Amino acid sequence: MALIKEEYPALADLRTMMREQPLPSLAPGLIDPTCMTDEDATSKANIVLKQFNAALASRNTRALKDCFYASQAYWKDIVALTYHLRTFSTPGVIATALVQTNSYRLIENGFAVDGSVKFEPIMPALQFIDCPIIFRTQSPAATCRGKMMLLPIELEAENGKPEIVWKIWILSTRLESLDIQAEDESLLQTPARDTRNLESLETEVFIIGGGNAGVTLSARLKALGIESIMAERNALPGDNWALRYDSLRFHIPTAVCEMPFLCYEEKFQTPHLLSKDELASQIRRYVEVFNLNLITSAKIQNTQYDLSERKWRIEIETLAGRRTITSKQLVVATGFGTQKPRIPSIPGEYDYQGISIHSAQFKNGKDLKQKGVTVNF
Ligand SMILES: Cc1cc2nc3c(=O)[nH]c(=O)nc-3n(C[C@H](O)[C@H](O)[C@H](O)COP(=O)(O)OP(=O)(O)OC[C@H]3O[C@@H](n4cnc5c(N)ncnc54)[C@H](O)[C@@H]3O)c2cc1C
Repeated sequence: MALIKEEYPALADLRTMMREQPLPSLAPGLIDPTCMTDEDATSKANIVLKQFNAALASRNTRALKDCFYASQAYWKDIVALTYHLRTFSTPGVIATALVQTNSYRLIENGFAVDGSVKFEPIMPALQFIDCPIIFRTQSPAATCRGKMMLLPIELEAENGKPEIVWKIWILSTRLESLDIQAEDESLLQTPARDTRNLESLETEVFIIGGGNAGVTLSARLKALGIESIMAERNALPGDNWALRYDSLRFHIPTAVCEMPFLCYEEKFQTPHLLSKDELASQIRRYVEVFNLNLITSAKIQNTQYDLSERKWRIEIETLAGRRTITSKQLVVATGFGTQKPRIPSIPGEYDYQGISIHSAQFKNGKDLKQKGVTVNF
């Protein structure tokens, strides 16, 4: 029988998804943006929160379902209530999942507004209330944050006059901090472990990849008093950015690119747009300032989980020789798709004499002055 080699989960196709589930479109004139102040937005959000909290506390899935925008609703949770990364859609599914997960996590006193509520008139057909939320769970004792995005609908009121009410279009929740083990930033100043001459070493958490996610996790663990060691295939921290094309520059505010505990210097804040070298040097600075354990130029040879010892055994090749690491946890932080270029075979490719490179190898236009460039997608 022939094996069907299909990718699972299937690759997301944004265009298809947008076609199948387009953004909601409000009826013309439903909301007059000039009449909506942030105070109005706050009071509308509080009305929704009151209904939501009452329905959740009484485990009333029907009332909870009614808090959501009927034709399109999402709840995305990052560890807060599901203890996982989950996205639920449709009001009924969301309401059931909220009631069920709340019975384990036990939200104390419901969701509350956290900071400033904003009315966002993106365009006439899409105007929503953006409401940051905060809540606490009992099991585990933790603080969680998130946001609700509310859309208006028109209801026929009893007196025949139409009434605008707001429903939850998108709810997002995330676990922010656990009470039992608070972060201690002073621990970030403790020296790094000297791993240079050790052929075998043991640690709590071994992290493959020292890019943004790897170094951030390592710092967070260190602040919790948990040791980690990262192994990075590149020669220097920050090379995940430094080795990219020369003209790379972010178009998003620097605030969105910040990593915990150490902000970019003032001169790099918005309106400045971060270049790839500035991103790279921030990672280098991060590793140095917090003395993070990072083995560079590392090649992972083998990873095995020992069921009896309940530990990982990892073998790596480094510039100083082969190393064996034992760890309780293993984290793969190697980035999206491990950055392996997909190079399809093209008929006649060996006859072609010009330059043919994958975009990952592209550095700048100067290198491509010769004729005959092939572009592979
Ligand atoms: C031009 C550009 C713009 C982007 N803009 C945004 C944005 O605005 N917002 C956003 O959130 N994201 C953005 N990204 C995505 C960005 O790359 C990630 O958010 C971020 O870098 C992810 O961090 P990461 O640690 O998961 O992956 P990476 O930063 O890619 O780090 C992975 C690391 O793992 C190492 N590695 C891989 N395989 C191995 C191995 N086998 N052994 C050892 N080490 C290994 C790599 O060398 C690398 O250093 C952008 C990316 C690019 C290229």
